[in-house]
Amino acid sequence: MLQPPLPIEVLNSLLAGIDAGIQAHLAWNQRLLRCALLLESPGDEMLRPQSHLLCRFGVWFLRERSQLDKVDAQLVAGIDRAHARMHQAVRGLCLAKLGGQAASDADMGAYEREQSAMVARLSELKHLIETATSRIDPLTGLPLRHGLEAAFEQCRRDARRGGNQLFVAMIDLDHFKSVNDRFGHQAGDVALRHVVDRLRTVLRESDPFFRFGGEEFVALLRCESEAAAQTVVGRMLDDLRVHAVEVQPGLPLTITATIGLAEVRAQEALDAAIARADHALLEGKLHGRDRVVVAQLAPQSD
Ligand code: GH3
Ligand code: MG
Ligand code: MG
Repeated sequence: MLQPPLPIEVLNSLLAGIDAGIQAHLAWNQRLLRCALLLESPGDEMLRPQSHLLCRFGVWFLRERSQLDKVDAQLVAGIDRAHARMHQAVRGLCLAKLGGQAASDADMGAYEREQSAMVARLSELKHLIETATSRIDPLTGLPLRHGLEAAFEQCRRDARRGGNQLFVAMIDLDHFKSVNDRFGHQAGDVALRHVVDRLRTVLRESDPFFRFGGEEFVALLRCESEAAAQTVVGRMLDDLRVHAVEVQPGLPLTITATIGLAEVRAQEALDAAIARADHALLEGKLHGRDRVVVAQLAPQSD
């Protein structure tokens, strides 16, 4: 199943949660010292068997687990294990001390080991999320082209399994420079966001949709036929035509686009399919814009 990328707001909130989790667990070193030297209790909740689900990080982790799993499920499972074991060790250490006994070496070792493992894995997860964030366009929230190749290969497999064909749609806004020239760059940004929001309503959530360059976008469509793909891209253009954007208060502006549509051949590389879609797009520009041009099929190589 193709997963849509996590939105930038979700990624940013996960980053904040991870930072808080690392800080909270490093603070345990001080807390444990107080427990050991002053015989203070770490608090009833921390002495309970499921304490890793009760600490602030544990509550957050449980709540965000399904989103975190989308980043790297294996790594996240490792964090869960280390966190549970760390709490188990803390419980052992504190209960021994509060019972007037010496804490066990095994618990101390487990605490140190699991805390280090947990912090290291959280840092790794943070790095993965930061990388994902840097690959999202902050203006439109669309993924930038880094992930296009991987999405293309996955779509190709998915289309084959589902008995569909894969299409590359290159979308370029018409006369967009004049929007900036007439209304200013900020108005241009508003118009770009509007276009992306509108096109998203036509696409399925699982259709990969990228900001390819300035005012150019690529969508990967898995459709049962060329006619079906043409219907989807035709709907995109219809939608833009009927939904003007207010670039300034009381000033509606209709943005149109030209689309080059290429059906991907069995062994065809992404670059080759994009080049054909781009060529069709150029033809659309030459013949008046605000239209779809279907690319000529590449010769079959299989
Ligand atoms: P055509 O119909 O032939 O595609 O004409 P065009 O004016 O759209 O094409 P051109 O390539 O000349 O201009 C693209 C414009 O898109 C120029 C650039 O300033 C604008 N643009 C690209 N990215 C952004 C952006 O992030 N924000 C704004 N406001 N404008 C952008
Ligand atoms: Mg362009
Ligand atoms: Mg353009």
